[in-house]
Amino acid sequence: MSWFTRKDKGIQTPTEFKREAPDGLWYQCPSCKKALHTREHRLFAFTCSSCNYHEKIGSQEYFELLFDQSRYTELDPMLSSGDPLNFTDTKKYTDRVVATEHKTGLKDAVRAAYGDMNGMPITIAAMDFSFIGGSMGSVVGEKISRAIDHSLKTGTPFLMISRSGGARMMEAGFSLMQMAKTSARLALLAEAKIPYISLLTDPTTGGVTASFAMLGDFNIAEPGALIGFAGPRVIKETIGKDLPKGFQSADFVLDHGFLDFIVDRKDMKDKLSALLGMLKN
Ligand SMILES: [Zn+2]
Repeated sequence: MSWFTRKDKGIQTPTEFKREAPDGLWYQCPSCKKALHTREHRLFAFTCSSCNYHEKIGSQEYFELLFDQSRYTELDPMLSSGDPLNFTDTKKYTDRVVATEHKTGLKDAVRAAYGDMNGMPITIAAMDFSFIGGSMGSVVGEKISRAIDHSLKTGTPFLMISRSGGARMMEAGFSLMQMAKTSARLALLAEAKIPYISLLTDPTTGGVTASFAMLGDFNIAEPGALIGFAGPRVIKETIGKDLPKGFQSADFVLDHGFLDFIVDRKDMKDKLSALLGMLKN
């Protein structure tokens, strides 16, 4: 076995060459720790084939999953945030926005688009948690409102995919106004008898839960999503009692009548199409 032993001494292999697989080829499920091939993970709509954990994904992935041939037209893609309050916390709000834009390649915490889903025209707005915690500022409210306007104008159903930590603190009162603004627009949609489906994903909290996310003709959720207004610690301190098991999980919220049903992401496109098909008749 002389060919198997290294004849020259002192040959060092840098760590980066020791890896058998390049970065990004494998995904480890944070819930059951199973390693999945990223291609397999994508094929399963970013859910774990072993425990069905739904990985948090962004607007890009939802658009690709739901629109036919991943083809869609984005609405107001360049709309970006101002700084109405000249706000500074650990850094200036304007600097935070610019830094987040560079890091994520996004302009704000929501993107809206229209296209076909199983041959049916639809308008979809999807939130991105990677942009300042999916927080709702003026741009989020404005883009959602304009997406609803597009639904109204074209008579196409509206799907809102929420994933948010709530209001954007750096816009304070302006952020809260988005709750009223989006809710009023949705009322126009209801008046025009155009279906609105709200999909709540992990997590949907704060002002988003307290406005458009709970106003759907159907409010549906992904399995395991955390859905609530205030966090469990705040509620526990307020009521001075221990909270029940599974509090604020999608199953718990469904059992207490706040959701219509829970949909596995792998079935999302077909379930939504079937539901909208029924509403059309
Ligand atoms: Zn898993």
